[in-house]
Amino acid sequence: MNKKPKLLTASQVEQLFDILSEHISPRCELEHRNVLDLLIAVVLSAQTTDKQVNVVTAELWKKCKTCQDYIDLGEDGVAEAIKRIGLYRNKAKSVIGICQKLLSDFNGEVPRTREELMTLPGVGRKTANVVMNVGYGMPTLAVDTHVFRVANRTGLVSETTVEGVEQALLKRVPQKHLLNAHHYLLLHGRYTCKARSPECDSCPIAAICRKILEK
Ligand code: SF4
Repeated sequence: MNKKPKLLTASQVEQLFDILSEHISPRCELEHRNVLDLLIAVVLSAQTTDKQVNVVTAELWKKCKTCQDYIDLGEDGVAEAIKRIGLYRNKAKSVIGICQKLLSDFNGEVPRTREELMTLPGVGRKTANVVMNVGYGMPTLAVDTHVFRVANRTGLVSETTVEGVEQALLKRVPQKHLLNAHHYLLLHGRYTCKARSPECDSCPIAAICRKILEK
């Protein structure tokens, strides 16, 4: 029978976030001018790097700032502007659908609740959590591939599903770090605890990390 991996203790969890908060400046690396930009950038970022999204949004935003601007540009116009990123046709469809629904149901404003955000086309739980956190300063915890990997590798959680990781982290992350926990784990995963070649030798949390302790 498989033994469940050992989790970090509450004090190790606190220490881990204290250290990450000293080393990482919490930030969203998707460029945006307002919450609508943020929502659209997050939708565009599926299976694409933030850098690539920033390149196409720089051009897109010369033409679009409001929901009506996107609708006027049209699905083909948006697709043309973002064609350098993957799944651009589906993403253009979502962008137009989002703008239409924001205008028809939300007075052109991006809503603040997860339930409302998830009624928008192409918006899932992760996107809603990012918008609530980065756009509206709420302590949600969006779990992407980096957060999922780092949380399980370090022993913060031991979960096999994205929602399981989110719920477990919400219970384990100290209150003072909850607002920025997503950024700490994501940026740590993107630049240090990389998927194929984690930089354990220079990692500031190596003394606590379960992957190292269980070696
Ligand atoms: S010690 Fe290695 S595996 Fe652990 S968090 Fe750091 S980089 Fe990741």
